[in-house]
Amino acid sequence: MDYNVLLYYKYIPVADPDSVRDWQEALCASLNLFGRIIVAPEGINGTVSGLIADTEAYMKAMQEYPLFKGIEFKIDQYPGHTFNKLNVRVKPEIVHFGLGNLGINSDKTANYVEPEEWRQMMKEQPEDVVIFDARSSYETNVGRFKGAIDLNLDNFRDLPEKAAELEQYKGKKIYTYCTGGIKCEKVSVFLEKLGFEEVRQLHGGIIRYANEVGGEDFEGSCYVFDHRVVVPVNKVNPTPVGKCEVCQGQTERMINCANPDCNKHFLICDSCAEQLEGTCSEACHANPHRRHWDGKGYYLRGVNSKLYLDNPDPNYVRTNPELAGG
Ligand SMILES: [Zn+2]
Ligand SMILES: [Zn+2]
Repeated sequence: MDYNVLLYYKYIPVADPDSVRDWQEALCASLNLFGRIIVAPEGINGTVSGLIADTEAYMKAMQEYPLFKGIEFKIDQYPGHTFNKLNVRVKPEIVHFGLGNLGINSDKTANYVEPEEWRQMMKEQPEDVVIFDARSSYETNVGRFKGAIDLNLDNFRDLPEKAAELEQYKGKKIYTYCTGGIKCEKVSVFLEKLGFEEVRQLHGGIIRYANEVGGEDFEGSCYVFDHRVVVPVNKVNPTPVGKCEVCQGQTERMINCANPDCNKHFLICDSCAEQLEGTCSEACHANPHRRHWDGKGYYLRGVNSKLYLDNPDPNYVRTNPELAGG
């Protein structure tokens, strides 16, 4: 375990994203860090891997940069890099939601629930609380908090238009969570604007909850956007939830369908994966453009489907082998 994987974000107005990108590129290159970093007028979001000492130097540099002072890092150890290149980009948002800059400032966020308080809440499951998973369905399919509801989203940016389904919970307290917290900061502001009176969010997301209180009452595993794909969460009372979409058998393996016109990101068990050669159905298996199944289930960008190429959303990182380790 010589490497760290860092996950971080901070909402803070960035006047000159291009100069921050240039600085990040030079900093990461000098420290041999790989990963994906997004800089936007609303802040910064990144996940990088590197040798432990290099990631420590990176965290120190970030804390010394006035804009990012106080930024919080989720840290996991791993035996190697979880990315195989560096990608630093300027985008309109640090996580694509489609409602523009909501003016969030992480230094002023006041509705956090700390992991220990969340753990207690999970034990009690109070009737006036709704636990809301702000992530997409391919994430919730592999793991979620016990009793959580979600909107079965294909993509985070679909949340605003599906939020009407949450109207039935008006008057209750909404406790929202996501992988590391970045989505919840937007969702909280958005739901408050919709008239939800008490919205709170798990501080540091599932990753920090796993690291600090052992992940109790989280069922299944946590989807991550690097080539680990899923990471364990619950060391206290683990319960598997992932189901093969073909045979319904238990699995936590996620691949992209080998039919490039489908390219669906889905759960499949080992035996179905072998039998269907990495496709999601007999129909996809019969597709003449089917990609060679090498047992991994992610593919070179050049032979990837338009789904990824037209879709810059980080939710599709997994279909990009340059980031997924393929
Ligand atoms: Zn199966
Ligand atoms: Zn398919």
